Amino acid sequence: MAGEEGKKTTKKCPLCGGTLTDSITNLPFLMGERIAVIKNVPAEICSDCGEAYMKSSVVDRIENLLDRLEELGSEVSIVHYEAA
Ligand SMILES: [Zn+2]
Repeated sequence: MAGEEGKKTTKKCPLCGGTLTDSITNLPFLMGERIAVIKNVPAEICSDCGEAYMKSSVVDRIENLLDRLEELGSEVSIVHYEAA
């Protein structure tokens, strides 16, 4: 079988085996009593179960954002991933 080697590999969802598609999503986080929503996060979304998977660089950035939100101390925070 030749000719398909250069094709972008299709990633599979580890939970259900569905196909992962590059997308943008909004992610809610619970930090104790507080809630943070990060909008417009680049992620791979499972077309079957809807689970979102993020690259480690994206996860790092989100952790950074959450740290800063924690310092602000507001009960509900909504931030845009790109604007941070
Ligand atoms: Zn899935």
